[in-house]
Amino acid sequence: MESIIQNRDLYRIPWTLPDNAISWLEPTAQCNLACDGCYRENDKDSHKSLEEVKHELDIFEKYRNTDCISIAGGDPLLYPHIIELVAEIKKRGLKPIINTNGKALTKEFLSDLKKAGVFGFTFHVDSKQGRGAEWKGKSEIELNELRLQYAQMLADEGGISCSFNSTVYEDTLQYVPDLVEWAHKHIDIVHTMVFIAFRHIVPNLPMDFYAAGEKVDWHEIHYHSEATRRVDIMSTDVLARVKERFPDFTPCGYLNGTENADSYKWLFTERVGTKNKIYGYLGPKFMELSMMFNHLLTGKYLSYAAPKLSRKGRATLLLLWPFDKKIREAFKEMMKNPFRIFKRSHLQTILFIQPVDFMEDGRQSMCDGCPDITVWNDKLVWSCRLEEPKRYGSFLHTFPRNN
Ligand code: SF4
Repeated sequence: MESIIQNRDLYRIPWTLPDNAISWLEPTAQCNLACDGCYRENDKDSHKSLEEVKHELDIFEKYRNTDCISIAGGDPLLYPHIIELVAEIKKRGLKPIINTNGKALTKEFLSDLKKAGVFGFTFHVDSKQGRGAEWKGKSEIELNELRLQYAQMLADEGGISCSFNSTVYEDTLQYVPDLVEWAHKHIDIVHTMVFIAFRHIVPNLPMDFYAAGEKVDWHEIHYHSEATRRVDIMSTDVLARVKERFPDFTPCGYLNGTENADSYKWLFTERVGTKNKIYGYLGPKFMELSMMFNHLLTGKYLSYAAPKLSRKGRATLLLLWPFDKKIREAFKEMMKNPFRIFKRSHLQTILFIQPVDFMEDGRQSMCDGCPDITVWNDKLVWSCRLEEPKRYGSFLHTFPRNN
């Protein structure tokens, strides 16, 4: 069956292990929620010392040319030295991005983080997080109210990049187009929306797991579910859903899988418009220009753009139309009403992530050029599977189950 997208229509983002826009730092594994799809074991005694975390930053600086540091966990807002950590990352010339569920964020805390140099936030909000009474049982659509609260909080503080991510489960896939539509309504203050396909080890995954040649009981692996669940949602499944509602929606960049060139592990879409109208979806040349110019000018690939750059939708269309067919189409759409040229327009990123895929022969396909690499025992490792080296000393190998 022909895929709804082709490699030749997309720009392969040039991120690699030693030269990557993003790196992932976990100062704590403590969290104040218990998300269904979480891959980190919640541990309230897991705060690292500031010295340990600085050492991990040294490891990144030694092995990995990076633009931003995603500070994750656990929830990094529970880390007692978070303000000093943000200041330290900023001092090293990197962009500190806080990945949080937002629960511990107050206006005063935000203001202190801004003074320390925070560049952006990625708020994880979805309907399977076990949030308190106020949000209990709320649907993905109802949770837009909470998303808006966080986006508005950042907009009021000003100058901070605002992203959201949600895990996509079999029963919530249907709501992705609603969230994409909500993001459009708030294109002026929401810069990025990320949708991550759910992955767990489940009874219906026909694999046996091995550590150092010994079989491991899959029930002991932290990220497992006892129930039969769908763990094979692809980024193209999410894209197909979105295209049903928005047929023009077109991705422009991707990261492939380590085991297959035609899987879209990170699938990027860039769109431009106002709160009332999307003028169009930018093409692969736009993505290539953004990456190459940034690398030429700063020596690093671009990750999160500053909010003042995201407001340059109109300038992007006016200046870059000769380079990209899709920009020309968006430009033409804008000019259907010449008065639109006086209106500020915005850029917004929509990203679909498809984590580990287990191949029929037992190979595991990870994200080639994984941006969410973290440090473990002075080595660079995948953050999504960190519980494996922590518990077994190495990543697990898989073989098809013989029964
Ligand atoms: S390999 Fe894992 S940690 Fe890396 S980007 Fe993919 S899902 Fe994230």
